Amino acid sequence: MHSTFEYPTYAFKRPPEMDADHNGAAAKPYPLIIVGAGPVGMAAALDARRHGLPALILDDDHTVSVGSRGLCYAKRTLDILDRLGVGDAVVHKGVTWNVGRTFFGEREVFNFKLLAEPDHRRPGMVNLQQYYLEHFQVQACERAGVDIRWQHRVVAVRPDDAGATLDIETPEGAYTLRTDWLVVCDGARSPIRRLLGLDMQGQVFQDRFLIADVVMKASFPAERWFWFDPPFHRHQSVLLHREADDVWRIDFQLGWDADPEEEKKPEKVIPRIQAMLGPDVPFELEWVSVYTFQCRRMPVTRRIRCHPSGLEAPIQEFRTPTTSCGSWPS
Ligand SMILES: Cc1cc2nc3c(=O)[nH]c(=O)nc-3n(C[C@H](O)[C@H](O)[C@H](O)COP(=O)(O)OP(=O)(O)OC[C@H]3O[C@@H](n4cnc5c(N)ncnc54)[C@H](O)[C@@H]3O)c2cc1C
Repeated sequence: MHSTFEYPTYAFKRPPEMDADHNGAAAKPYPLIIVGAGPVGMAAALDARRHGLPALILDDDHTVSVGSRGLCYAKRTLDILDRLGVGDAVVHKGVTWNVGRTFFGEREVFNFKLLAEPDHRRPGMVNLQQYYLEHFQVQACERAGVDIRWQHRVVAVRPDDAGATLDIETPEGAYTLRTDWLVVCDGARSPIRRLLGLDMQGQVFQDRFLIADVVMKASFPAERWFWFDPPFHRHQSVLLHREADDVWRIDFQLGWDADPEEEKKPEKVIPRIQAMLGPDVPFELEWVSVYTFQCRRMPVTRRIRCHPSGLEAPIQEFRTPTTSCGSWPS
């Protein structure tokens, strides 16, 4: 857990479908159910509300994402967050930056400036911890009338010609729902993708990276700095980003042979950070994890039939247009 962020706890609410007088799966289907209250699921729900669709989200957790995950939001993403009603909150809380510098050893070899342009509303980049983004999205969902059911785990999905049936487990028992449309946003490990026997194709990079989030008052400017082979971490790369609340994210490349459990130990992490910052810079360790990069995608995403208007449409397949990248804790 982080010392700079107080994790909200979202309460479990017993759904009407669990009451004895409710006729469960036989009841009228929901027009749209989204699995997962992460950034993607909540974005889908907020967009659905903008189009006048009711949206129900099922999430198996009771808070926002724990740990150090996504942090950089580019101008285009900020435009989308504006559309969803969370752009201002993200920009005000986050750290704006436009300059990135790359060093080889101690020498700066490259830099870029994502300068603001007169007709652009937003800066080049804003850094913000993912839990803040999700917190703002939950608030926006409340304002928009999105029903989020916390601690509702989807354990089975049965697609058919008319939509899908979901089996859901909760702290007070199990129940079943019907939906016309199902949007699955249950994360990179996607239990539902596995349940449906769907696959991802691509590449797992044979390398490991240490994330160390530290709280410190630092003299670094609000820029993205990247080092190849720096004197404080020879033969590997290091990345430095500033986030909200004086949190700094440092990524150390470790190599494929590194032992993730060993590398997470404070006695291994703290000397790495001291070598980078110097012995006299005080800091507090906020979060440590080790991850690998994967660059994989589903070749096909499948649309479950039935438009809310009731118009029939065959199940369609959509080819995934672009490759997506993700990072996974080792
Ligand atoms: C260690 C790490 C570092 C990362 N660093 C970066 C970074 O620097 N930059 C970047 O852009 N991205 C980064 N990412 C990736 C970023 O976190 C993801 O892209 C983002 O979280 C994806 O959002 P999502 O909504 O698809 O999934 P998630 O955020 O994973 O949300 C999925 C939600 O679905 C819920 N769920 C799962 N299964 C079920 C179920 N069966 N029933 C009900 N609910 C379920 C989960 O509880 C969760 O709330 C990082 C990820 C990790 C793990």
